[in-house]
Parts: sequence; C-alpha cells; structure tokens
Amino acid sequence: MLSLENSDNRSVREKNRSQILQAIKMQEAISRIELSGQIDLNPSTISRAVNDLEEMNLIREREMGESSGGRRPVLLGINESAYHIIGVDIGATKIIAVITNIQGEILEKYYYRIDYSQGDVVDISPELVLECLERVLKQNQRNQSRTDRIIGIGVGAHGLVDKDRGKVIFAPNFGWRDIYLQRNIEEKFGYKTIIDNDVRVMALGEYWFGYGQNCDCLICVNAGYGIGSGIIFNGRVFRGHRSLAGEIGHTTVAEDGPRCNCGDYGCLETVASGPAIAKMVRTRIKRGRESIITEMVYDMSQITGKLVFQAAKEGDNLSRQVLEEAGNYLGIGIANLINIMDPELVLVGGGVSRAEDFVFASLRQAVTRKTMEKPPPISPVKQGEETGAIGSTVLVLEELFQAPESFLSEVRG
Ligand SMILES: [Zn+2]
Repeated sequence: MLSLENSDNRSVREKNRSQILQAIKMQEAISRIELSGQIDLNPSTISRAVNDLEEMNLIREREMGESSGGRRPVLLGINESAYHIIGVDIGATKIIAVITNIQGEILEKYYYRIDYSQGDVVDISPELVLECLERVLKQNQRNQSRTDRIIGIGVGAHGLVDKDRGKVIFAPNFGWRDIYLQRNIEEKFGYKTIIDNDVRVMALGEYWFGYGQNCDCLICVNAGYGIGSGIIFNGRVFRGHRSLAGEIGHTTVAEDGPRCNCGDYGCLETVASGPAIAKMVRTRIKRGRESIITEMVYDMSQITGKLVFQAAKEGDNLSRQVLEEAGNYLGIGIANLINIMDPELVLVGGGVSRAEDFVFASLRQAVTRKTMEKPPPISPVKQGEETGAIGSTVLVLEELFQAPESFLSEVRG
C-alpha cells in the first residue's frame, strides 16, 4: 500500500483510478487480467479506469507478457517520464534540489553546501531556497522537452513544519519562525507546492522508492547535524496529535550526559549527532588523547563529524572509539522506538549513517541487547544523501496518485 491520506470527497471513479494506479506502480508491469485478479472491481470498471489513466498519460503499454496459451497479453506500466516533479531537501548542512520523473529517478540536481565552521546559526534564508530552485530549473531548461512537464514542487524542511498551512513554524538551526515557504515558492514559480518536515519526507522517499517499499511499518532515522525520525505506520506517515511524532533526538539516552539545545541533558542528539561526535573528539584531545585529527586541522574548531569519519578510515583510534560510542547511543535510541512501534524495517540516513563501518556494529549490538525478540533489519537508506530530496517529490506524488484527474486538472488547468 502507498501512503495515501484518507480522503472521502473523491468520486468513485477517482478512487478506482487511484487504486489501479497504485497497483500498477507496485508491480512495474502488469497485464489487465492480472489486475482484475488483484483488484476487487468488475473488469469493465477496471478497463475504463485503465483507459482514463492512459489518456492522462500516467500509464502506458509496455512489452508483451508471457502467454498462458493464447495471445500474449500487453503489460501496463507507469509512464515514468510523462510528468516531472521538483523536490527540495532543506537540511541543516545543505540544500539539495532535484527534478525527478514519477518513478523517483533524478534528472537534474543542484547542491548547496553550508559551512558550519563559522558558527552555529547559518544564514539560510527562504531567498536562498528560492535561488536553489531557480538554479535547478535553469539546468532543466537546457532540455526543451522537459520544461513543461513539471507538475509541482515538494519541499522537506528542517524543523517544525505545519504541512496544512504550508509554513515552517520553527527551524532552530536557521533561526526561522513562521516562514510561509509554500506561499513564497508558489508566488515565485507558479507551481503547486507542498512542504513537510525533512525527516518525514526521507521516510516517504524510502517508502516509495527505496528499501522501505511494501513495508507497512517503517522507521527512518536521520542522524546527521541533528537526529530525528520519520515513521510510516499502516502505510501512512504517522504524525501524532500535534505533528511532533518521531523526535527521538530529544529522548534521553544518557541521563548525566551533556546539555542539549532543548535545555535538557543527555538527549540522543548530544551524544550521537555529527556536532556531538566532533565535540567528543575535541574534548578528549584537550584532555590529552592522541589523534591524527590534530594534524588535519589548523585549530580544534574545524573538527567536524565528517572529519572524524575520515580520520577513522585512516585508522585513528580515538575517532573509531567515538564513532562506536555514538553508534551505541544511536542503537539505544532506536531500540526504544522499536520497542514502541515494532517496525518491519529500520533505515538510517544522514551523515552519521555514512560512517557505517564504524557505527553500525555497536548500533546493532545495542539494539539486540535492548529488544525482546530478534530485532528488525537495520540498514542505511538506499538513496543516500538524496533520499530527502527524492522523498520531497513524494509529497506531490501522493496527491497525484490519490486523485489523478483532479490533481492534473488543478495543476495543468
Ligand atoms: Zn534535547
């Protein structure tokens, strides 16, 4: 099942089309006969919905299937390149803007990296996000046939996001409060725009196009500059009462641990995020531990999580030890989530997950220690750094798949 929101105001015809479009997406290629075996609708209804979807260019006939005696059946598949979507991931350390087709394949991408060595609050403005969008659109214009296929923009933004009102309520790392990002983007570019929290869209990206496909209960943890998680529950993003669900970065894993940005002590973020890892290394070097990192920087403030990972790869004991400790804490945090949600699969993204070789062994050990039964598989996200940007496009795809005709007539006129 795809993560579609409940919607009761769709017509019966739209519901049928949505159901068939989802079935076709799940199979890659499927014959009309196989479709009627899977979907509890009469063949003439299925056939009408298939024709509608073909007319909308959302599906197309592919190769011929295997014959079971008579004529070889025509297989139907998603018409992946008929429409394009822009996805933007506004993370704490970078903005990634991509243009994808409706199968989540990247056609264009634009990266903007943020330099944190200058201090904690970065000058990321909503204008910078617009600029990144402009850049990726400009790249796209090199290919004339693509320019009129875009049907919307999805945005995953760091911080607390009100999806319904299209605003970022609070983004601590950027110093944003009440930014109506959706309106800003729609006014400038004229495309329908949907925004949500960056970690939730990361979970959506893995659920639609990554390792999480077909998992009805999936947890996706982002461990990078901050730590958060996106939860897919019964095929939908689980948001909680006030849309705050999944904030594992502020669950306590070390009661006497360091002070957190939130004011409390020992939150997961203070012992396993990128900045926490850097700080742990810095503190121990100051206390006299030896490390090759001292030869890699001019001064200690330049130590970042990424650099610790590099040093670990070069055999630095201190770096390896700190990454292993971070993995242990991350495992404790993830085990808490597993014990509450009982997911089928846990995926880990963000910068810390890229230090897989040094983090995952202690992470898995901690999870095994703290869960009652054999824990679910835990692996890095499939789509790496681009998971969030691809996931942002899913915000648009969800609406397209839910009510294809009304969505397309809304965005195309
Ligand atoms: Zn905290």
